[in-house]
Amino acid sequence: MLTKTKIYLSSPHMGGSEQKFVNEAFDTNWIAPLGPNVDGFEKDIQHYLGNNSQVAVLSSGTASIHLALQILNVSKGDEVLCQSFTFSASANPIVYQGATPVFIDSESETWNMSPELLEIAIRDRIEKYKKPKAIIAVHLYGMPYKANEINAIAKKYEIPVIEDSAEALGSTYNNKACGSLSDIGILSFNGNKIITTSGGGALITHNLELKNKAVFLATQARDNKPHYEHSSIGFNYRMSNVLAGIGRGQMEVLDERVNARRNNYNFYKENLSKYNSISFLDEPKGLFSNRWLTCIKTSSFELREQIRLNLLEEDIESRPLWKPMHMQPIFKDCLHFTDGTAEELFDKGLCLPSGSNLDREDLDRILDTISKTPNL
Ligand SMILES: *Cc1c(COP(=O)(O)O)cnc(C)c1O
Repeated sequence: MLTKTKIYLSSPHMGGSEQKFVNEAFDTNWIAPLGPNVDGFEKDIQHYLGNNSQVAVLSSGTASIHLALQILNVSKGDEVLCQSFTFSASANPIVYQGATPVFIDSESETWNMSPELLEIAIRDRIEKYKKPKAIIAVHLYGMPYKANEINAIAKKYEIPVIEDSAEALGSTYNNKACGSLSDIGILSFNGNKIITTSGGGALITHNLELKNKAVFLATQARDNKPHYEHSSIGFNYRMSNVLAGIGRGQMEVLDERVNARRNNYNFYKENLSKYNSISFLDEPKGLFSNRWLTCIKTSSFELREQIRLNLLEEDIESRPLWKPMHMQPIFKDCLHFTDGTAEELFDKGLCLPSGSNLDREDLDRILDTISKTPNL
C-alpha cells in the first residue's frame, strides 16, 4: 500500500513567476533591503488594497505591529487595548514598547473584538487610570471585525486603531479591503499565510508622510547627512529585495488563493453541516472573508479532541483555535474585559486543513476521517 502524504494546516503555494522576480534580483545584484522588487511589491499591494493606501513592506508582521506602536508613541506607562482572541504576535509588541496590554473579548458574529466590551474597557481605564494609547483589533482567520462599530468608538474617544490584518489579505468589509480600514494596518507574509514571501510583513497607512516615517524607522533612522547621524532610535525592519520578488509573484495569484480557500470552506460546510455537533461561522452581511483557515465549532471539548486526534492518526494536521491572550501564562496578570466568548471558542473550536493547494482527494480524505468520528 502506498503511504499517504501528510496534509498540512496551511502550506506555502507558489504561483510560478516568483522565481523570475527573484532571478532578476540576482541578475541585477539587488540583494539588499531595497530595490525594484521592494518598490514593485509595494505598488502591487497599494493597487490591490486601494483606498489611498500607502504601503511599506517590512521584515515581518510582528515588526510591522511594533513599528505601528512606535509611530503612535506608545511607551512605558501606556495601556493598549488588544483583542484577546488572537495569535501572541498581536500583543507581544505592546510589551516590547514597555507598555501594558489590556485584553478585550470577542463577540459571536465575527469572533473578533466586541465593540461593547471595548467601550466598557475604555471608560473603565479613563476613570481608573488614563486613556489607552491605541487599540489593536484583529481580522482573525480572515473574518473582518466589526470595523464601523470599532472605528466609531475609537473616534469618539480619539484613540488610534491598529488593524491586524495578518490573516486577512483579500478579505473586505463593505467592499473595502481589510488592512486599509483604520489608521494603521498591518499584513503578514509568513509561510502559513494566504500568500507568503517565506517571512515578511507590511505596514499600511493613508498618508505618504507616515509611510516615509515607517521606512525611515525601519532602516535604522538615519538622518539626512553624509555621515551616519541619528536623532531617533531606529530598527532594522525593511524587507529584502529578494523576498519582495517572491511577493510580486504571489500577488499575481492572490485572488486565486482566496477562491481556493473559500472553496475549501464551502466544501467542509456542505459536507459537515448535517452533523448537529459541528457549526460554522457564516459571513455577516457586507463582510467577505478570505477564509484563510476554515474553523469549526464542535459541541464539546471532548468531541473536538476526538476529531483532532483522529485526523492526527491519519497524518492530517488540524489545530485548536487560538488560545486567548488573557488565558496565556505570560499575560495572566493583565487586565481583561471578557465574557467567556473566546474561552468557549478555544475549548470547542478546531482549524481544519485549509491550504489553497489541497486537492479533491485531500479534502475527501479529511472528510472521511472526520465522518468516522463516533457520536458526531
Ligand atoms: C501571523 C500573525 C502575526 C505575525 O506575523 P509574522 O509575519 O509571523 O510576524 C500577527 N498577527 C496575527 C493575527 C497573525 O496571524
